[in-house]
Amino acid sequence: MISVFSKGKKLHSIIYNLCPRCHNGKFWSKDNPYLNVFSKSNNNLEKCDKCNLKYEIEPGFWYGAMYVSYALGVGTMLLLWMLIELLILDLKIHELVLAIVFFIVLFSPFFYFYSRLIWINFFVNYEIKK
Ligand SMILES: [Zn+2]
Repeated sequence: MISVFSKGKKLHSIIYNLCPRCHNGKFWSKDNPYLNVFSKSNNNLEKCDKCNLKYEIEPGFWYGAMYVSYALGVGTMLLLWMLIELLILDLKIHELVLAIVFFIVLFSPFFYFYSRLIWINFFVNYEIKK
């Protein structure tokens, strides 16, 4: 069955941490965003070990991932704010801000991990190996 998560779809590469071109090699050395941040080299791999795609397409390529990270962060903030407003009605504004900041810091390795995967998937398409 073909779904948005099937091999060949961009979500497959993003969710399973795979090279955007071949969907076989890894993008980050570890699948867990938190383990990558605390590992010796907290950057993604230099190139795909299966198809040799150089991940940093040009110098400064990863700066663009900051925009994706920003969007993920703002989306999470809005979601948290709505959840908190729905669940706890009598939270003061400084408590609300503190709770949101706490979760943003907690999720930051997650944003870093997925922002690069999403960013490279804007520019590199899946290619079937001949
Ligand atoms: Zn590859």
